[in-house]
Amino acid sequence: MENEMTVGFIGNPNCGKTTLFNAFTGANLKVANWPGVTVEKVEGAMKYHDNIFKLVDLPGTYSLTSYTMEEQVSRQYILSDDVDVIVDVADASSLERNLYLTLQLLELGKPVVVALNMMDVVAKRGMEIDLHRLPEMLGVPVIPVSAQKRKGLDILLHTIAHHRDTSQADRLIHHHSSDHSKKHEQHAMVYSDGLEDKIDIVSEELNKKYPGIKNPRWHAIKLLEQDHEIMESYPVDLPQVLDRSYESDIINEKYDFIEEIIGETLVNKEKQAALTDKADDLLLNNWLGIPLFLAIMAMVFVLTFTLGDWIKGYFEILIGWISDGTAAGLSAVHAGPMLTALTTDGIIAGVGGILSFLPNIAILFLALAFLEDSGYMARVAYVMNSVMGKMGLSGRAFIPMILGFGCTVPALMASRVLENPKDRRRVMLITPFMSCSARLPIYILFSDLFFAEHAMIAAYSMYLIGIAVAMIVALVLNWRDKQRSKDMLLIELPEYKMPSARTVFIYVWEKVRDYLTKAGTTIFVASVIIWFLLNFGFQGYTDDMTASFGAKLGTLLIPVLAPVGLGFWQVVVALIAGISAKEVVVSSFIVLFGMQTVGSAGDLSALHASLAGIGFGPLNAFCMMLFCLLYIPCAATLATFKKETNSVRSMFQVALFQLATAWVVTFTVYQTASLILGM
Ligand code: GDP
Ligand code: MG
Repeated sequence: MENEMTVGFIGNPNCGKTTLFNAFTGANLKVANWPGVTVEKVEGAMKYHDNIFKLVDLPGTYSLTSYTMEEQVSRQYILSDDVDVIVDVADASSLERNLYLTLQLLELGKPVVVALNMMDVVAKRGMEIDLHRLPEMLGVPVIPVSAQKRKGLDILLHTIAHHRDTSQADRLIHHHSSDHSKKHEQHAMVYSDGLEDKIDIVSEELNKKYPGIKNPRWHAIKLLEQDHEIMESYPVDLPQVLDRSYESDIINEKYDFIEEIIGETLVNKEKQAALTDKADDLLLNNWLGIPLFLAIMAMVFVLTFTLGDWIKGYFEILIGWISDGTAAGLSAVHAGPMLTALTTDGIIAGVGGILSFLPNIAILFLALAFLEDSGYMARVAYVMNSVMGKMGLSGRAFIPMILGFGCTVPALMASRVLENPKDRRRVMLITPFMSCSARLPIYILFSDLFFAEHAMIAAYSMYLIGIAVAMIVALVLNWRDKQRSKDMLLIELPEYKMPSARTVFIYVWEKVRDYLTKAGTTIFVASVIIWFLLNFGFQGYTDDMTASFGAKLGTLLIPVLAPVGLGFWQVVVALIAGISAKEVVVSSFIVLFGMQTVGSAGDLSALHASLAGIGFGPLNAFCMMLFCLLYIPCAATLATFKKETNSVRSMFQVALFQLATAWVVTFTVYQTASLILGM
């Protein structure tokens, strides 16, 4: 008979949980060097001899208190009866920090196996861990593994399979100094006499009041910590014993024990951390930290622009061939003129135009992946902590914001790293102002068209304006709420390392695949719709675009957008279409102005000429970029809002808020600039 069992993987952020999980299940999940990226529960299954393992990758967490979303999700799941074995993934290279969660897990009284990961790093650094002493002190199996090097994986599975029914800890070979040591010798973690007395009294009371309660000791400890969840579900009336919160005493004593463990098991403490410290002296410097961050982002951006544009040149040639080939093919089969026009002017122009930006996007993500996996990105939260503090937020709030440079949707979901729901809402409101990769093609197109040698500065300014608007909005909201966040910045700073090629490749490939999918679906459909809107009017199929439905619809909204410098029906159509996805603004422009592909010199000057013909100049281009930066990012973002807030109403509120912000900011810029230029 086959045995089925559920194995929960839990560990600190960045301990290599996901890597280990992928090594077992073979799934290509995102592996990133971000604390708290694994926000959702991920499952996989595998077979090991007669066992079917259901593996669950839990969100990274430092403890089992119920402060953050991650902790709540992990704790609830681990406490439930669903889990048969808990695998505590610990980063052996920072054992001291990781053991804190381990000690808490041991107290749950469930079968625990410690997977001591990153053993390759330990070896490389010349550290040694006493692998006999460690399990003796913890009372559970400790298996050295290296998820990345795929070492020790089988032994881990073997241990899991055998450990299923051992909720009782192995015999501890460890002498506690306390008098109580005899009485509590089955526990790895024994507290000071005063605390142990209290734990005993509370446990007894719990046993009496809630007969059959599982693991009264753990519940007693939680009650002494004044854990809200347990206080609500298992109230006991012991005012003398539970006179105050003993949380800090309990934490301190755990750390004392950890120190003891480290002292006995860790030989040759790390020498290499010195390098990370040196780099951090500079990168986390109070004065240089933020300028260096902006400089690094500027570098990313220059790379995206220059290298990306260079590759884009070749890419366009390729797309040109495909387009010519298709046109030739269509005429060879004598396709009707309408079908030919739809295919070449609609689909190939729209989808192809967007595809030509793929190199820029790929390089942007390559650079972001590099920064993430090297360990730098986690530090940005640190660097931004004081600035964010001015807005009543912690540096942690900057994590979703910086993820927003990639894509707003995962960025919004990452806002779950914030423990306070009010903070979280504020961050969700400002994250969409961070310029995502889909807006990049718009900047490239318009700045190349109108700002010649200053193109790069014009485009980079959008990123800075995006950050500035986000911060101003946060400031205003903070001023309105007048509440300070109590969220401590408990963020892990992983050591710097050379990014792994595999991790970077998977990351970039996933983004490229997303982009291609988007081109094949959203942008394809949008291009077809736009083409129909522009080629059909009340009289049916028409060559005269100004008589089309699109023109009629666009003209309707000109009065609203004229004050912000965007009073052109073509622009209006592109902006409306752009709500589906930001790249659609560009593909619509291409369809609207009948270009084949954007970028090649001839097409650009033709587009420049037709835009100049309708009176669209550099200022309008800048306003266009600005408006696109700030208004509704895309339908997917709105859907995410609805999902995360569970409210259609707040989704519409957010959409309105974004439109209003875009309008007000662009209005101010356009009117001021017009005044100055007109003088
Ligand atoms: P999670 O946050 O716990 O899911 O951690 P990840 O699986 O995302 O891993 C964080 C980083 O550690 C990634 O860059 C991995 O490539 C790296 N990593 C994971 N396991 C190992 C390992 O055994 N050795 C080394 N050297 N790196 C590892
Ligand atoms: Mg993970």
